[in-house]
Amino acid sequence: MRRRVVATLLLALAGAAGAQTYTGPIFDAHLHYNDEAWQAEHTLPDVIGRLQRSGVRAVIANSRPNDGTKTLAAAREQTRAAGITVVPFVRLYRNRADYTGWFADESIHTMVLSELAAGTATGPYRGLGEFHLYDSANANGPVAAKLMQLAQERNLAVLAHVDDTAIDLLMAHAPRARLIWAHTGIGGASVERVHALLQKYPALMGELSYRPGLTGAGGALSAEWKALLTAFPERFLLGSDTWINARWAGYEGLMADARRWLADLPAPVARRIAWENGARLFGLPLTVD
Ligand SMILES: [Zn+2]
Repeated sequence: MRRRVVATLLLALAGAAGAQTYTGPIFDAHLHYNDEAWQAEHTLPDVIGRLQRSGVRAVIANSRPNDGTKTLAAAREQTRAAGITVVPFVRLYRNRADYTGWFADESIHTMVLSELAAGTATGPYRGLGEFHLYDSANANGPVAAKLMQLAQERNLAVLAHVDDTAIDLLMAHAPRARLIWAHTGIGGASVERVHALLQKYPALMGELSYRPGLTGAGGALSAEWKALLTAFPERFLLGSDTWINARWAGYEGLMADARRWLADLPAPVARRIAWENGARLFGLPLTVD
């Protein structure tokens, strides 16, 4: 009932603004629930309310450290009541210092193995990440290589914030790994380069938060990205990237922005990117009420 009210509200808002908007379900494939969020104003009821008001029906959850993810995964009654599925990922970071050294730090590998063995209250972890590589050469760090191979062996997805050079290096370690490219090249890899990588690696997916060039004036989808998303409708995912509390505070706005540019795509393509691609990746129903 409440979900129907949300959909009706979204339609009403779109009508008021005079613009089209995508009104279907959203899979948020890049969500963080870090310590500074849940220990401050973004409590479980706050974030579940934001997801629900945004029509988000599933999330890839990860956090620094993993406690936030486990808290969200353990809130099964609340998330079920809100119609939200939590897909937990193991984050490689215990603290901010781990961002820059994880790829060569054996203790990170050990931590990942113990997290995978323990799982979460809502079931096993389904992926690794988000991780960052600020220098693409670090994709060849011993722990980076081991974790890519582990992901491939255990059929875990990997959420990686890296440049296009690192995509090639990571895939060389584990050619069948299900790699999700966070931001699909936040440094602005050309559309042609993204196209070539998607062709080269059939399991590579692109997550679209913070992607430069995706939208232009008035939040409309740019022509070159419209062409790319339409050419590869099964390869892209939406994400919020709640890496700081300001992103949580603006969560509903981020999702409204995404609904705005999704409406510039043919309806079946918009629905795939917003929901079905994520659902298919993790075995969720393609149809939600
Ligand atoms: Zn992120």
